[in-house]
Amino acid sequence: MPDVERHDYDVVVIGAGGAGLRAVIEAREQGLSVAVVCKSLFGKAHTVMAEGGCAASMGNANEKDNWQTHFKDTMRGGKFLNNWRMAELHAQEAADRVWELETYGALFDRTPDGRISQRNFGGHTYPRLAHVGDRTGLELIRTMQQKIVSLQQEDFAATGDYEARIKVFAECTITELLTDNGAVAGAFGYWRESGGFVLFKAPAVVLATGGIGKSYTVTSNSWEYTGDGHALALRCGATLINMEFLQFHPTGMVWPPSVKGILVTEGVRGDGGVLKNSDGKRFMFDYIPPVFKGQYAETEEEADQWLRDNDSARRTPDLLPRDEVARAINEEVKAGRGTEHGGVYLDIASRMPAEEIVRRLPSMHHQFKELADVDITAEPMEVGPTCHYVMGGVEVDPDSGAAVVPGLFAAGECSGGMHGSNRLGGNSLSDLLVFGRRAGLGASAYVQRLTDRPTPAETDIDAAVKTALAPFDAPADGPGENPYTLHAELQQTMNDLVGIIRKEHEVRAAIDKLDELRARYANVTVAGKRPFNPGWHLALDLANMLIVSECVARAALMRTESRGGHTRDDHPGMNPDWRNSLLVCAVDPASTAQIPGVTVTRADQTPMRDDLLALFELSELEKYYTEQELAAHPAAEG
Ligand code: FAD
Repeated sequence: MPDVERHDYDVVVIGAGGAGLRAVIEAREQGLSVAVVCKSLFGKAHTVMAEGGCAASMGNANEKDNWQTHFKDTMRGGKFLNNWRMAELHAQEAADRVWELETYGALFDRTPDGRISQRNFGGHTYPRLAHVGDRTGLELIRTMQQKIVSLQQEDFAATGDYEARIKVFAECTITELLTDNGAVAGAFGYWRESGGFVLFKAPAVVLATGGIGKSYTVTSNSWEYTGDGHALALRCGATLINMEFLQFHPTGMVWPPSVKGILVTEGVRGDGGVLKNSDGKRFMFDYIPPVFKGQYAETEEEADQWLRDNDSARRTPDLLPRDEVARAINEEVKAGRGTEHGGVYLDIASRMPAEEIVRRLPSMHHQFKELADVDITAEPMEVGPTCHYVMGGVEVDPDSGAAVVPGLFAAGECSGGMHGSNRLGGNSLSDLLVFGRRAGLGASAYVQRLTDRPTPAETDIDAAVKTALAPFDAPADGPGENPYTLHAELQQTMNDLVGIIRKEHEVRAAIDKLDELRARYANVTVAGKRPFNPGWHLALDLANMLIVSECVARAALMRTESRGGHTRDDHPGMNPDWRNSLLVCAVDPASTAQIPGVTVTRADQTPMRDDLLALFELSELEKYYTEQELAAHPAAEG
């Protein structure tokens, strides 16, 4: 057996994006020793790419904003399928988490009177996104890294060792979670550069690995988003929820092909940009769905008035929740009113002076100039839907981030529940801060309560080594399967058959194809040796993408309604009987297969607390709830 480097920590955080770093800070503040492991460079995570901002009801741009309005907007955005307790905690705590970032050294854009500036975004009643131009995520990560360095300096002063309580393991991929009697005992992985194996013995693991977008061809996500945390959780006995709900962001680049899918921030529309079809028509006025009728402007004049003063008019339908806008763009293109390259136009050029565009949206200006040779201060952008975010993830306790496996915690995009069937823009960065902190606290409290520490079994470590090395063994009867070919086939399958609009026979065809890919995966073979070998890395990631894609497809088949990020052509419209139902994905933890079969079961959520229910008008809830559920509403009780 090859050597396995070993480390011992109280808590291992897998992922160094916003959720992971906030969890690290919290666990260290509780006095525990923490390893933070990330498969990319430290500082390169999806969080860094976040552009538009971080939603928090600070009330700086409109003092009427408060946590209750943020809570209501979040529930509406998720079509009332959200875990309401998570939505409540998130709305209540987001503002404190943003202010706390300032104490770490964050520098947000300011209002003229010096408060944190907040911008409009889809589905938010008031301007709510704290931002730093269109580079907000970069500031978030920079600040939290700075905080970690300052904690390490404190540790140096106390112990003479900077890494006494926080150590970063960058470019290190975790491939397996190890358990002892059903409780987390550690994490196993490999160094991407050397291919050497590494074991982290720890009684608590926080998963903060982000999303799954790399299972799709057209995506805003980068190479790390292969659903590793989702698959690690499943394989050690945890459950996933909401996996049928994927967010297709309405505005990804559509041209040139090499950059198809790259995100165009919603901040463009938040700052006044408008969507137009090839006839030059602002088509979003034709797509206000019945559940939002009365809440959105019905003429261009009213929409433009709202941009000037959002108290004197209704908001523009260009800023409907993302699922609605993505479907509308899809319809326009299908109806032959799309652009040359299969998108629609997003026009900011005619809406404000060039220098204002460059000041507010510097990254977008740069991105289009460099990648598409388009000057967004003079011409419209061409945009179309792109796979962006997964609402589904590890089922956790809202208050502590604990999964059903003792010692396992999850936060950020790899956890599920908070966003229901559709996430509002800006609610991810705030989610990372609120629930990253809570998962760090939850993991610390769990470790502090333990009397005995679980120990990973040597046989499990050997098995993890064997599984990781399997792709180097070619099958006896041929050259084996190429991981790049399998990946391309998987992406095309998910893109074409389980994409933005779904049909039963197509999803069934996808499941058949996934079965075929799973069988072929058993013969996946890579050339070369372990030192930096991207083919090998992809082969290991591919197992995760296959298992997670199966969760998406099987849940999409089972949910016979359309809601948020899940649109069934053969079951249009929301069905109140499905509103409170979760589809829970699991695998048999005793299975030794690297891609075990997925089971999906339907389970109901705890009904919303009465005081929260009372925040909504009965007439609004009637659009979503069954009569029986509404009986508890104060207005229904008379
Ligand atoms: P990430 O930030 O992606 O971090 C994941 C970490 O896990 C990385 O460090 C990765 O290396 C590590 N990792 C993964 N697998 C493994 C493994 N097996 N072993 C070790 N490490 C692993 N949201 C907003 O709220 N506002 C915005 O303006 C916004 N803009 C966005 C723009 C773009 C282009 C994109 C792609 C997303 C945007 N989002 C935005 C969404 C938001 O950025 C993400 O949902 C969020 O950053 C996810 O954070 P995270 O901490 O969960 O994961």
